[in-house]
Amino acid sequence: MVIFKKIENIKNYISLKNTTGINTGFVPTMGALHEGHLSLIEKARTDGMLVVCSIFLNPTQFNDKKDLEKYPVSTDEDIALLVKAGCDVLFLPSVDEVYPDGMDKMPTYDFGYLDTILEGANRPGHFKGVGQVVSRLLEIVEPHSLYMGQKDYQQCMVVSKLLELTGRQNINLVVCPTMREADGLAMSSRNRRLTEPQRVIAGVIYQCLVSIESKQSTTELNIVKKECEELLKAKGFATEYIALANAKDLTLLDSYKKDIPMVALIAAKIGEIRLIDNILLNKA
Ligand code: AMP
Repeated sequence: MVIFKKIENIKNYISLKNTTGINTGFVPTMGALHEGHLSLIEKARTDGMLVVCSIFLNPTQFNDKKDLEKYPVSTDEDIALLVKAGCDVLFLPSVDEVYPDGMDKMPTYDFGYLDTILEGANRPGHFKGVGQVVSRLLEIVEPHSLYMGQKDYQQCMVVSKLLELTGRQNINLVVCPTMREADGLAMSSRNRRLTEPQRVIAGVIYQCLVSIESKQSTTELNIVKKECEELLKAKGFATEYIALANAKDLTLLDSYKKDIPMVALIAAKIGEIRLIDNILLNKA
């Protein structure tokens, strides 16, 4: 694996490789890598791509400063994992390299409705930062395919909109399934911050999502949501949202629908740690 810290060098390397006929598959991350990240690398690799991963802890997408300060960093371990997973290129830039004119000089994008609900509503400014960093990284890496996790469902929709807004519809956005621990907990870099007792109960988020799915033909949505909220509360979680939405456009639903693909989404905090997860219902 080749590691680049400078834009000019990675650009030259990738364009040289592309002239040999190989396409670039890009996996942007914030590091503290786990099997979820590695599944994206694996997918890009089996798709026959030149696999480019970035590790960049982007300050502009953290609406909560404490969350940024406490975000786990494990670059040496990350590098070893990437080598083992068969990643070809790692981009490891500094903040100045990504934002040479300063972080507030970047263009912003209007994600409309998507920025007003769920993650957008609960993390003001978050998607603005996501839009900035993803568009900047795409400018640098110029991938053919972009690999992202369903774990961040709304983010995938925002990025899809970003591709449209920036005229990059030619980039193939590949949304990969959520990797989970044995108890169902979605893998996340933030899981490393959970204490042992918190970790033991954290699988309850997935249990709630599964109950939202399994009760769809027997129970009213409002009742299921209430049960989930109470269960999360009993385990010590503060729920930010439990939502059901149309999987295509994320229109929020107040009852189950029979014939459309839906997505159930939860965000909840245990102590200082905020976790999100989702599952698809009536998959298309
Ligand atoms: P992050 O480092 O959290 O910004 O995540 C980088 C990419 O990995 C994003 O596209 C995430 O959606 C994806 N990702 C994070 N967790 C998982 C997971 N458990 N399974 C699959 N993909 C994931």
